[in-house]
Amino acid sequence: MIGPYDLQVDQSLGKLIRVIPDFPKPGIIFKDITPLLSNASAFKSCCLAFAELADQAEYIAGIEARGFIFGSVVAGLSGKGFIPIRKSGKLPGQTLSVDYDLEYGTASLEIHKGLIPADSKVLIIDDVIATGGTASAAVDLVIAAGLIPIATAFLLEIPPLGGRSRIASKYPKLQIHTLLAE
Ligand code: AMP
Repeated sequence: MIGPYDLQVDQSLGKLIRVIPDFPKPGIIFKDITPLLSNASAFKSCCLAFAELADQAEYIAGIEARGFIFGSVVAGLSGKGFIPIRKSGKLPGQTLSVDYDLEYGTASLEIHKGLIPADSKVLIIDDVIATGGTASAAVDLVIAAGLIPIATAFLLEIPPLGGRSRIASKYPKLQIHTLLAE
């Protein structure tokens, strides 16, 4: 496993993450990435840093919704196909589904079944890893679809919530990359 904050981005970009206390529920400290997204050079350098990981994969999967923002750009930049991992009931074809716990509730994620050639290598991208429940569900879905999750990559992690260690112990061979410290 590669260590934290291993992709090359200017760590001062972390100042563009806005902290919104008590959103969407009391007690949650929400990391709002919209200031970073609206800053052209910051957004570009994050996408380019994620794209450094894309060579080893044949597809880029993004987790709805904020994983789509980075994942689709990275797929386009690197010439790979994009796989949407969506919230329940959004994908029109036959799906595989996984239920999981969130920092603020429960949810389920889905992936299309039988669309991507078996054993294709996949890089999974999302904005934030908190408890790791969402990322873990996405990895489970990629595996259930007959694909090989090579790496996960996040803009930001929230270390006290333990997502990285949870994912690392469940999938010891999976790479876990993050761009910015908390
Ligand atoms: P988790 O499953 O707990 O790792 O949560 C990760 C998912 O929920 C990601 O898709 C994030 O977009 C979102 N998320 C969880 N906690 C936060 C937070 N404190 N700030 C922003 N997004 C969060």
